Amino acid sequence: MFVDTAKIFIKAGDGGDGAVTFHREKYVASGGPDGGDGGRGGNIVFQADTNLSTLADFRYKRKYVAPKGENGRGGRCNGKKAPDLVIRVPMGTVVREAETGRILADISDREPVIVAKGGKGGWGNPHFATPTRQTPRFAKPGMPGEAYDVQLELKLLADVGIVGFPNVGKSTLISVVSEAKPIIGNYHFTTITPVLGVVRMGEGSSFVMADIPGLIEGANEGLGLGHQFLRHVERCRLLVHMVDVSGSEGRDPKEDFETINRELQKFNPELAERPMIVAGNKCDLTDDDKVEEFRQYVESRGYQFFPIMAAIAYETEPLLKAIQEQLSKLPPITRYEREEAPVMPVEDVQKQAVNITNHDGVYFVEGEWLLRVLRGINFDDSESLQYFQRVLIHSGVIEALKEAGIQEGDTVSMYDIEFEFVE
Ligand code: GDP
Ligand code: MG
Repeated sequence: MFVDTAKIFIKAGDGGDGAVTFHREKYVASGGPDGGDGGRGGNIVFQADTNLSTLADFRYKRKYVAPKGENGRGGRCNGKKAPDLVIRVPMGTVVREAETGRILADISDREPVIVAKGGKGGWGNPHFATPTRQTPRFAKPGMPGEAYDVQLELKLLADVGIVGFPNVGKSTLISVVSEAKPIIGNYHFTTITPVLGVVRMGEGSSFVMADIPGLIEGANEGLGLGHQFLRHVERCRLLVHMVDVSGSEGRDPKEDFETINRELQKFNPELAERPMIVAGNKCDLTDDDKVEEFRQYVESRGYQFFPIMAAIAYETEPLLKAIQEQLSKLPPITRYEREEAPVMPVEDVQKQAVNITNHDGVYFVEGEWLLRVLRGINFDDSESLQYFQRVLIHSGVIEALKEAGIQEGDTVSMYDIEFEFVE
């Protein structure tokens, strides 16, 4: 079975905890704090593996957790960083946050991509030493690693996608123009997995063609197999729409052509705008007048038309040349960028419960939601910083700090940031 979507849970490693230790030496009375910092948690990394062509492995294993960083130790020994967890996926896999649908990564080249960052290690107790606080008996826990439920979606990377009704000869075409050997049969839905073939045009030039299985009416509503496969044409730069011009199965070629176009439009209106070339197949089963009539129909709608007989590779060369010609003028294959989480307007920030603990004038503030806010803040950007300050007021954190007894000049410590409290 061809599996091209999967839902999994990923969690990067938590940071190691900072240590609370004091220097000890023979004959030296109470030494200073020397607790090491925790190590960073392992990242969750995605990497393309060209040996994989489906997401089937993810049906059995759905939970991926990277290891925690090492805790700090005495003698200012910092904990080691944990290794990354590398998840291998087929080329063209798009990773989305399941809850919001936002794109986290597009694994469309060989570069490894960090999708969930490991938590930073916590600071050891020397970090909290001041002239008035020489024996800090606290340190920081490591930051939690990022965690997401993610939706994986394979969107093939092909220059050209062949679309059309079942049994019109799509697989046959790809088998005669490339090294790909899809199953060909005179019945519907022979092809149940998209097949990629490299078409070599000489002088080192080539393009990738994808045989997109059975689109039929209602495909965009999940009828037949088409719906599942339409996502694979989304990245194609050019579509080749193949039609059985002979109407050998009792349908009208013009109606076939319009039906498929409607399906593309319904699935994704952008697809209907995609450059398209029309191939009229099975010319051997009809007479020239019929072919001419169809040619006029599609040409009057602004498409290039090529009559072929895929089974014997008759007149496929002009079609391939036209494909190559069009591709040379088109932008490269779409790569999706990571989408950042939207920033919540300050007015929408609700009162939040936070956990505050006071250690010797350092007020530690913790809360799951706070962590999410902090991840979106850019502390080098004054606007972002202002936003953060307003969130602290709106959410009631400042009020809670005051209730906990904070004084001007005390330190506020929130995960990996720290600042002095001022009214
Ligand atoms: P697909 O479902 O669109 O991939 O169609 P296939 O490539 O599996 O072909 C369906 C049937 O049409 C097979 O029996 C092919 O041999 C046949 N076929 C393909 N091209 C031609 C052609 O040019 N002429 C005729 N008569 N039959 C063809
Ligand atoms: Mg086929």
